Amino acid sequence: MKLQDRVAIVTGGSRGIGLSVSERFAAEGAKVIAISSRQTAKSEGGIEFYALNVADRAACKQLFDYVIEKYGTVDILINNAGITRDAMTRKMTDEQWDEVIDVNLNGIFNLTRYVGPHMQEKKSGNIINISSVVGETGNIGQANYAATKAALIGLTKTWAKEFALKGAQVRVNALTPGYIMTDMLSSIPEDQIGKFATTVPLGKMGRPEDVANACVFLASDDADYITGQVIGINGGLRM
Ligand code: NDP
Repeated sequence: MKLQDRVAIVTGGSRGIGLSVSERFAAEGAKVIAISSRQTAKSEGGIEFYALNVADRAACKQLFDYVIEKYGTVDILINNAGITRDAMTRKMTDEQWDEVIDVNLNGIFNLTRYVGPHMQEKKSGNIINISSVVGETGNIGQANYAATKAALIGLTKTWAKEFALKGAQVRVNALTPGYIMTDMLSSIPEDQIGKFATTVPLGKMGRPEDVANACVFLASDDADYITGQVIGINGGLRM
């Protein structure tokens, strides 16, 4: 049990990577609050599902207050909720730009602005930002998404310095997953997925568990001296 009794907030916890992280954390003994914009599952097995739009500033403050009131603390924050609204830049609508910035970037700030200082005050805590390989390489048709994922890398390094001030043992890291088989890739035809896999040195697509395993490691005391890092979970797609 690497995360016994730790209180973890996982955004985007209802599906895909976030659900896998929530389940792995619960199996490691954590108390998990799994956030999604729609209420989907019944809370059980150490996971409380909570409906919240991370782009809603007031709702994020309310959630933070609720967690402190009910659980007493926050030990781990996984900033994972994310969306895509792809289009070539010349065709990208204001709505497509704004929606992705609101969820993938503002949504991370909205919660971390409360959770980070709380961790700094109690002198311990752990934040993991789920960025993307696209934030490192860019991608055609994903200007909005790439901008937010690159921004998460800057936020990670800033927060790793800021929340560790005055000797606080608050660690902040980012993961940059490559191709992970979730709903996010569900619109891509199967033959195209096959082609993607051939571009990965390990020759296969990733699973949500591959990201969840890295989150367990980073959130645990095994990663006690690792902060401000950007770690690729991509089968070697980017080295
Ligand atoms: P999914 O589309 O499978 O799941 C997205 C999750 O985010 C859902 O739980 C969804 O809940 C939640 N969510 C979306 N919008 C909001 C919102 N406004 N407020 C609260 N929750 C929200 O995505 P993945 O699991 O594939 O991706 C998770 C993260 O990993 C994302 O940040 C993504 O960018 C990143 N990533 C994914 C890769 C991949 O190949 N899959 C590769 C690299 C990075 P609901 O359905 O209720 O809205």
